[in-house]
Amino acid sequence: MANPKSEIRNPKELVRPLVRELHAYVPGEQPKIKGLIKLNTNENPYPPSPKVIAAVKAATDGRLRLYPNPTAQLLRERLAKLHGCKAENIIVGNGSDELLAMATRAFVEPAGTRRAGQHAGTIQFFSPSYSLYPVLAAIHGAQTNVVSLDRDFGIPPLALLRKSKAWDFRAALTYVTTPNAPSGRGYRTAELEALCRAQKGVVILDEAYVDFGEENAMALALRLPNVLVARTFSKAYSLCFQRVGYFVGHPALIAGLDKIRDSYNVNGLGQVAALATLEDLPYYRENFRRVIATRERVGRELTALGFKVLPSQTNFILVRPPRFAARDWLGKLRARKILVRWFRYPAVKDYLRITIGTDGEADALLRACKAVNG
Ligand SMILES: *Cc1c(COP(=O)(O)O)cnc(C)c1O
Repeated sequence: MANPKSEIRNPKELVRPLVRELHAYVPGEQPKIKGLIKLNTNENPYPPSPKVIAAVKAATDGRLRLYPNPTAQLLRERLAKLHGCKAENIIVGNGSDELLAMATRAFVEPAGTRRAGQHAGTIQFFSPSYSLYPVLAAIHGAQTNVVSLDRDFGIPPLALLRKSKAWDFRAALTYVTTPNAPSGRGYRTAELEALCRAQKGVVILDEAYVDFGEENAMALALRLPNVLVARTFSKAYSLCFQRVGYFVGHPALIAGLDKIRDSYNVNGLGQVAALATLEDLPYYRENFRRVIATRERVGRELTALGFKVLPSQTNFILVRPPRFAARDWLGKLRARKILVRWFRYPAVKDYLRITIGTDGEADALLRACKAVNG
């Protein structure tokens, strides 16, 4: 029976003030407009390998009633083989986003429990980088320390970070997007190593786009006890829909994360799809090659149209368009059924982030840019 005399006047007040005031993460739009060319969320334009689709179909039967393997054991063993480590070095998540969130709970003292001092409650990252980090910090009630990248989106040299005092070498948790998003800029492993060695807390090297780049820092996760490398099947492996990502790092960090993991955090079809992906890596390497070739071509042609195109080691490019404000370009391209991404925050408000699509989509983008440019 409904309670006719409930004392609760405003159910909004049942929600914690921190949550009520939270600015939630805003994912890129997924509109269902016919004929729209979607270059706004860095999805891979090529489908998963036919072997992956077949494996998912073959697993779709009465077994859906069963719980999946709770620790994604086979997948972790297969990933360990790929990266030359042990299964205990690996934890799999419902996308790497889930693991990035779990890291706040495993490594960072929430407000009110900071016995170990300020640093123990601090989450740190560069700006601009992945816009999820400040949201995760806010949800956890953590203190954030945000330091600007330099004008070319480079990481300021260690000596400068030391001198400026703005960087916190004792922060409990530091996120580094490498290659960087939304700029696409890649970083040398030697540079990342120096930074990781200087940090007292945990450093997560978020390598969501690393397969489109020149270098990766996986070796650091296996050599330095405070470093976790985050990878995802979403972008390079065309598997956004299935939500599978993983961390590699020291077994002590992985065990800490594993303690707070939901028992069945990685769905069964996701495990099947990721395993099948690892059985067909040459298919994906060919896709990386194609995306990179298209990226370089689009960059050259947009440069010829007067765009400033930043060098990219990812499957997107950050460009500063000519003639009109970036925000206006967003609308003008959308009117031509091309959806790209524009971020309103100051460091990148003059830029558009464009995901690299197929060659056909690239041609359509270039045609639309020429038409807008006049
Ligand atoms: C897309 C993305 C992720 C998250 O990927 P999942 O789909 O959650 O695995 C993490 N970091 C960065 C920088 C990304 O762009």
